[in-house]
Amino acid sequence: MTETNEWAELLAYDRDHVWHPYAPLPARSAPLPVVSASGVRLRLADGRELVDAMSSWWTAIWGYRHPALDAAVREQLDSMAHVMFGGLTHAPAVELARSLAALAPPGLDRVFFADTGSVAVEVAMKMCVQYHANVGRPQRTRFLALAGGYHGDTLGAMSVCDPVGGMHHLFGGALPQQIFAPRPPAGEGVDPGWEAEVRELARRHSHEIAAIVAEPVVQGAGGMWFYDPGYVQVLREVADEHGVLLLLDEIATGFGRTGTMFGAEAAGVSADVMCVGKSLTGGYLTQSATLCTAEVAQVVSGGEAGCLMHGPTFMANPLACSVALASLGLLASGQWQRQVERVGSGLRSALAPARARPGVKDVRALGAIGVVQLDHPVDIAAATQAAVSRGVWIRPFRDLIYAMPPYVTTDDDVAAIGTAMLAAAAAG
Ligand SMILES: *Cc1c(COP(=O)(O)O)cnc(C)c1O
Repeated sequence: MTETNEWAELLAYDRDHVWHPYAPLPARSAPLPVVSASGVRLRLADGRELVDAMSSWWTAIWGYRHPALDAAVREQLDSMAHVMFGGLTHAPAVELARSLAALAPPGLDRVFFADTGSVAVEVAMKMCVQYHANVGRPQRTRFLALAGGYHGDTLGAMSVCDPVGGMHHLFGGALPQQIFAPRPPAGEGVDPGWEAEVRELARRHSHEIAAIVAEPVVQGAGGMWFYDPGYVQVLREVADEHGVLLLLDEIATGFGRTGTMFGAEAAGVSADVMCVGKSLTGGYLTQSATLCTAEVAQVVSGGEAGCLMHGPTFMANPLACSVALASLGLLASGQWQRQVERVGSGLRSALAPARARPGVKDVRALGAIGVVQLDHPVDIAAATQAAVSRGVWIRPFRDLIYAMPPYVTTDDDVAAIGTAMLAAAAAG
């Protein structure tokens, strides 16, 4: 085990030399050193244990050191860690593609593997542009996206993120200019004003739109925002009406998080192109996939290029494919449904008292997601500290204190997360 003085040295180097996400360098605040994790707990260098209410950015749906996932990685390591995917193939990739296709909404059974969510979105956007070029509509290169969305941090993906919260202004001319519809309002049913506005936008821009892009049912990093599945149905209809593709980003919503296997399922809708990532490997390794219909694959594979112009170096990494396959195997047992419901109802009741607290604007829960929205920006250091002192790891952002715990979190641990979030809301 690393001694305290060694940690002091590591943390000093970390502060001055190692970037952390969305952080300055040198860092202004010190990260917590983690030495191991198991079940739903992170173990810190000083011996403290924290219940991980974040599932390591929404990925570790089975917690840490799950025996089936550990075994899948070990077993694969004994045959090969990696081989290139150009001109070669392997069973883990083929089997994973087959499992994904079986799980996905109908029609999405062509699979492109990539290494991160952002790249899956880039690939999806390129597919849509190539599709239209190949059917003789090369002017269709723009995207109709939703305000409040989040689709990743690369330039293409950033261009379809919320134009205000996504900080487009910081990158100015570096981003392609997209078309934005308002965020779907909260509440049941579809707001007729919203629908009219989206239909009008699509009509006005249809000649230049390659695809409509959305996170179905839950907008994640753009604001932990829940909206009625009816809005996804409207997007499907509008896309069909104008010969536009529907690109659904299920990187956050996929694999049961919102209560259905995919967000689109709640709407009874299939996309033409769909992205998955985050919890795909149960949080073990970095991998994503872009699924599309047979028609999209066929059209993209015709035309001038005769292929999809993308190929990540670590495409279909066998270790990642094997552990993803094991995670999909756990999902196939169907237990996730009850687990997600249980975690969700635990969060709902634990967070309910926050509604009456000063400074709280809204409290909401869906699937295994619980959110306390404040009426002011969270004091992140104070809120995090309040939760950590109660044995819970959270990472608030903007005005949001939220939890997306592993599906396997026990009732007691869910209750502890709720208590810690209330304390964070009071402190932050
Ligand atoms: C996290 C996320 C991404 C980006 O995934 P990375 O693996 O961080 O590149 C894209 N879309 C959605 C909806 C996400 O939640």
